[in-house]
Amino acid sequence: MLFRHEFVRKGQMELIEEIKKTVEDGKVGFFEAPTGLGKTDAALTATLEFALQQQKKIFFVTPKNSQHKIVVDVIAGINNKYGTEIRAVDFVSKPNLCTDPFLYSGGSEFYELCEKKIARNGCIGYLNTFGKNKEQKVNAYRNIEQFKQKYKAVSHDVLRERCLDDQILCPYELSLILAKDANVVITDVNHVFLPTIRQKFLMKMNADMEDCIFIFDEAHNLPNRIKNSLSASINKKLLENALKELQRLEPKLKDDLEEFIETFHNWFMNLKSGFVDYNAFDELFAYYNYDAIINTLSKSQEFTIEKYETKSHLGTIAEFLIAWFDGKESKARYVDARGTLCCQSLDPAVLSKPVFSDCYAGICMSATLTPFEMYVDLLGIERETVQKRFSSPFPEENKLVLYSQEITTKYEERKENIPKICDVILNTVNSVAGNIAVFFPSYKLLNEVLSCVEDKTSKKIFVQQPEQTPQQAKRLVENFKEMKNTFGGVLFAVIGGSFAEGVDYPGDELIGIIVVGLPFPEPDYEMQALIDYYEKKYKNGWDYAYVFPTISKIVQGAGRAIRTETDRAFILLLDKRYSWSKYKTLFPKDFNFSLYSQERIHRFIKNN
Ligand code: SF4
Repeated sequence: MLFRHEFVRKGQMELIEEIKKTVEDGKVGFFEAPTGLGKTDAALTATLEFALQQQKKIFFVTPKNSQHKIVVDVIAGINNKYGTEIRAVDFVSKPNLCTDPFLYSGGSEFYELCEKKIARNGCIGYLNTFGKNKEQKVNAYRNIEQFKQKYKAVSHDVLRERCLDDQILCPYELSLILAKDANVVITDVNHVFLPTIRQKFLMKMNADMEDCIFIFDEAHNLPNRIKNSLSASINKKLLENALKELQRLEPKLKDDLEEFIETFHNWFMNLKSGFVDYNAFDELFAYYNYDAIINTLSKSQEFTIEKYETKSHLGTIAEFLIAWFDGKESKARYVDARGTLCCQSLDPAVLSKPVFSDCYAGICMSATLTPFEMYVDLLGIERETVQKRFSSPFPEENKLVLYSQEITTKYEERKENIPKICDVILNTVNSVAGNIAVFFPSYKLLNEVLSCVEDKTSKKIFVQQPEQTPQQAKRLVENFKEMKNTFGGVLFAVIGGSFAEGVDYPGDELIGIIVVGLPFPEPDYEMQALIDYYEKKYKNGWDYAYVFPTISKIVQGAGRAIRTETDRAFILLLDKRYSWSKYKTLFPKDFNFSLYSQERIHRFIKNN
């Protein structure tokens, strides 16, 4: 067994054996295992030997680039321990790998700008990677062989850095070359599920789907991520920018598009909030030829990128129209409360079904995959599946789960409950030292509570904002974590957001988490459409669209504080509905609910 650590953790061996059997039998497996079990190590140990013997390629698919390094570390650890030469490539998108400082922060137009640079021999990295004349080709070959010799498992950060040293290479092209020989390719959802990207990606690696073993980490996110990649939207600002872009086009393109864009803009301005019919464009395209318009929009996009090296809003309109007419039944079309015209996919199976049916084996892992049947349904899996749930390896007494019997955020009772919510939050944060996170169902409720509590605590409150850039978010979390060295800080964030799912707060970075209410999403057009669609397709609209995803978000958020064996935290759930068995039974077994009292929290903290 190729396992990098000295000891296998409690429950980890069972997980390894289950995954190993699933892969050897060529099945799809769902494994719900909490933090701390060592899922990444287990999945790689379980699949590596089989993949090496049977010449299969492992694709480790994670939602965040930051998680790629852990996979690289596992492979490097195995190579160190056993003297093996297992090759792993950490593959991220081209814009994230590119070393050109001017293209590096580019948006969707990045790809065309890169191609343009290559075409005019303007990219040294590309030239060094492939070479033009015989001598350059020999040099390029030698550089790549040296790289292969030196690095067996390499993260994208290191690869990018190395490509800036001495001999400048294109990190993206180098990754593709390395991926051909790699045993493990670490990548993202788009490279696997978007058919055109996947086909090119596999073709460049000389790999067939039946030779691929996919390991999906954080698999609870798959349905949403896939749905979003099929969705598109346009708003007033985008159309105004498109009108401006029109004025900068060459005369022929401008003449061909001007009337259409103006008519489209006027049509858009008359839309009202609500569902929009699939046939809403019938009148427009009875007059304008759809294919000709898409063609001209695409040419205009090329022109804008070529001439101005900026994003093309006309190109976005083309993408939107294509998305609109693709998948009549599997998309919801509506104008939301902010006036955005949305074309939202409802069905991830459109993209995931062929992946799961054509691959050799698939492993879906997460701390929250309850109920398994929902994921099987939503991902459109028709082959045999293995479904296993594992318990937490951490001491149960390290987690105190409390719920309030006095509070609810049920819509009709919400207003009268806000003072009670504020009281519990203030009593808790003011009476114990340490960092506490409070997760809300929405920014609206967050702000209502914030305005009542902000001047009643000496602890600094760090507030998540809807429009925060990743850099601002990172800084906010770092500053909040720093407060652990003082009496503590308070983090106000929304459940399901990046602070409640993407960030870990180990050790004393967080001593407690408060979840306000049972954070069901606000009913909106997308939710309404999802409920109807899932009801029609799976006879379980309400649970699939509304209940199960909400519980999954709570479990994810509540799990942020306990990441190691010695971490301790209380989880305070502010809603009496947590006592209802229909919700309670959806939580993992290590959620031992007891009734909230400040005394219980104090006793728990004192025992630290
Ligand atoms: S070829 Fe590579 S280095 Fe050059 S612009 Fe494209 S991605 Fe960047």
